[in-house]
Amino acid sequence: MNLPQMFGENVFNDAVQKETLPKEVYKALRATIESGKQLDVSIAGSVAAAMKDWAVSKGATHYTHWFQPLTGLTAEKHDCFLEPDGDRVIMRLTGKSLIVGESDASSFPSGGSRATFMARGYTAWDPTSPAFVKEGTLYIPTVFVSYTGETLDKKAPLLRSMNAIDKQAKRILKLFGINCKKVATTVGPEQEYFLISEEMYERRKDLRLTGRTLIGAPVSRGQELEDQYYGVLKPRVAEFMADLDKELWSYGVPSKTKHNEVAPAQHEMAPVFSITNTAVDMNMLTMEMMRKVAKRHGLICLLHEKPFRGINGSGKHNNWSMSTDTGLNLLDPGPSPEKNTLFMLVLAAVIKAVDDYQGILRASVASAGNDHRLGANEAPPAIISVYLGDHLGALVDSIVNGEDYVPQGIGEGSIGVPESPIFPKDATDRNRTSPFAFTGNKFEFRMLGSQANVSDPNIVLNTIVADAFEQFADELEGCKDIEEAARAVIARELKDHYRIIFNLDGYGPEWEPEAMRRGLLNNKNTADAVPVCFEEKNVGVFVRQGVYTKAEAIARANIQLENYTKIINIEALTLLEMAKQDIIPAVSDYVAELCTNVAAKQAVNDSIPCNTERNIIMQLAEANDKLSVLIAKLEDILGSIVMEEVVPASQAMAHKVVPVMEEMRTVIDGMEKITSSEYWPYPTYFDLLYSVK
Ligand code: ADP
Ligand code: MG
Repeated sequence: MNLPQMFGENVFNDAVQKETLPKEVYKALRATIESGKQLDVSIAGSVAAAMKDWAVSKGATHYTHWFQPLTGLTAEKHDCFLEPDGDRVIMRLTGKSLIVGESDASSFPSGGSRATFMARGYTAWDPTSPAFVKEGTLYIPTVFVSYTGETLDKKAPLLRSMNAIDKQAKRILKLFGINCKKVATTVGPEQEYFLISEEMYERRKDLRLTGRTLIGAPVSRGQELEDQYYGVLKPRVAEFMADLDKELWSYGVPSKTKHNEVAPAQHEMAPVFSITNTAVDMNMLTMEMMRKVAKRHGLICLLHEKPFRGINGSGKHNNWSMSTDTGLNLLDPGPSPEKNTLFMLVLAAVIKAVDDYQGILRASVASAGNDHRLGANEAPPAIISVYLGDHLGALVDSIVNGEDYVPQGIGEGSIGVPESPIFPKDATDRNRTSPFAFTGNKFEFRMLGSQANVSDPNIVLNTIVADAFEQFADELEGCKDIEEAARAVIARELKDHYRIIFNLDGYGPEWEPEAMRRGLLNNKNTADAVPVCFEEKNVGVFVRQGVYTKAEAIARANIQLENYTKIINIEALTLLEMAKQDIIPAVSDYVAELCTNVAAKQAVNDSIPCNTERNIIMQLAEANDKLSVLIAKLEDILGSIVMEEVVPASQAMAHKVVPVMEEMRTVIDGMEKITSSEYWPYPTYFDLLYSVK
C-alpha cells in the first residue's frame, strides 16, 4: 500500500482543486476557504463542472448535499447527475445545484423554530469543508437553514461560532502587534468504541433497539486485571482496524493512533487534528465507517456511551486549540509562560469562559447515553473543572496569591539505564481525571459521549471564549501600556475564576463536596443539565456572538430534552417487552421444569433431597412476581407522562422512569445468575464481550 498516494484519493481537496479549476476560480475559492472571504457565486458553475468531472472519473453517478440536522446524525438525499439530451443522457451538475438544494424538511426536528406549513429547508454549500466521493456518490458538505433563515443544523452555528472567535481573537492578537488573516479553532477528537460479534448482537433486542444492554449480569472477568489497555490486538480486531484505516485515509481522515482500551472489547482511534468544521465532518464519517467496516468483518461497532454495565463506557476526547493562518498556536505557552503575556491572557479568557458558562458547556455534552458516564456511580462526576498541571498551576497560583513565581526547570528525564537516551520531559503531566485538561498546547475536553456530534461542545467553547476575548479586547484596546494593562486583567480574572481550577484527582471522593463548597454546578443527568440553556445569561452569550438567535437557542434546548425523553421512553418500552415476552416466560418454564423434577424425585422416593430445586424455585418464582409488580409500576408511570410537555416529561423520565428501570434490572440480573443458561433467552455478558477472537 502506498499511503501518501492513496491518502485523500476520494476528496476534492486543495491539490485536486488546483489541478482541475481555472486559475482565477481556484484563487477565489481558496480565498473563501482560507480567509473567510464571501464566495463569489459567479464561480459556482465552474467549480460544479470541475467537481462533477472529477467525481465521475471516480465512478460517481450521483451527488448529494450532506448535512447534519438536529438529530445529531448526518442526512443525505441522492440525485443523479443525469440529464436527458435527445435520446441520450449527459452528466451534469449546475452551479445552482452545487450552491443550494431545497428539501422538504418537515420531518427533521426543529424545536418549533419552523412551522410545518413552512416546511421548506435549504441546504447551502459550505465551501470550507471539502467534498468527497463515497460509494458512487459525490458528497457536498452543506449547512441546513429554514426558509426564514433559522439554522436547522449543527454546522451553521458551528461556522458562526468559528467566525466569532476568529473576529475576537484577531482583536486580542492585534493588541500585541500581531496581524493575521484568520484565527481558526482546531480539534482532534479521540474516538472510543466497542466491537462485538454480529451473531451475538442480533440476539439482543436491547442492543438492536437502544444501542446498549438494558440488562445483563456482570461477567466474572471484567477489566480488573487491567490487561486489555494497550494489549496485543486480537487478529479479527487488527484486521478490522487495518481495513478501517485504509477506508478513512482514502477520505482524507488522518487516522493516526489505534489501540485497545481499558474494557474488554473496547478500542480507540485518534486522528491528527484539523480545522474544527472539517474535524466534525471527518468524525461523523469515521463513526459511519466504523459501523460499516465492522459489518464487513462480521462485527458490530457499538458507539453507545455505556453499552455494558460494570465496565468502562466510551467517550470522545475533544482536543481543542486555536491557531493563526501563520501557524501561531494561541495556547502554546512557549518556554517561559510567565513572560508570555499573550498566552496568559488567552489562558485567562478560557478559564473565565469555562467558569462563567460551565452550565452550557456541561449541557452541550448531555445525552441519555452520556448520563451513564457523567455523574453516575462509577464514572467521573458531572462537574466541570479545569486542570492546568504542575507548572502552569504553580504560575497561576503565584499570580492569584500575588507572589513571585519561581520557574521550576522542566528538566530532562532518564529511565536510569545508562544506555538509554535522555528525553525531554513534557511540561504537563497527564491527569486522566480532569474533564477539561491543559495538555501542553491545547485543552482536552473529555466529557463528550462517544456517539456525540462534536459540533455541540465546540459551538459552546468557541462562543464563550469569543465572548471573553471580546470583553478583554473592549477593555484593553487603546491602553498605552498593553503589557501592564493585560497583566492586570489576567490577575483579576484568574482571581475571579480560581474556583474552576482543580489540579488533583477528579475521581476522588473529596472532589464532589469540595466542588459544592466552591459553588460549581453538578447536574447529574440530561433533564437537570439542559434547562440552564433557557436562562437569560446563557441565551445572551449566543445572541451576542451571533451564533444563535434567542429562538434558535431555546429551540435547540427543547430538542435536546425531547430527544432525551424519547430515548428513555424507547428504552423503557424495550425493557418492558423483554421482561414480559422473554424473561418471565423463560424463567417460568425453567421453574416448571424444576417443579417437574421435584415431583419426579418425590414420586420415586420422598426422601430424595430436593432442597436445591426448591430453593431455586422459591427465589425465581418470587423474583418473577416482583418483576411483574415493577412492570405494572413502570407502565403506570409511562402512561402518566405527556410527551409534548418537554420539561416535565424529561424530569419524569430522569427521576421516575430511570429508577424503576434500575430496579427491574437488579431483579432480572439476579434471575440471570440462577437460571439455567439453557433457558436464559439472551446472550450473556460473557458471550457479548468474549466472542471475538
Ligand atoms: P496526548 O498525548 O495528550 O493525548 P497527542 O499529541 O497524542 O496528545 O494528541 C491527542 C490528540 O490531540 C490528537 O488527536 C491530536 O491530533 C490532537 N491535537 C494535538 N495538537 C492539537 C491542536 N493544536 N489542536 C487540536 N488538537 C490537537
Ligand atoms: Mg489524549
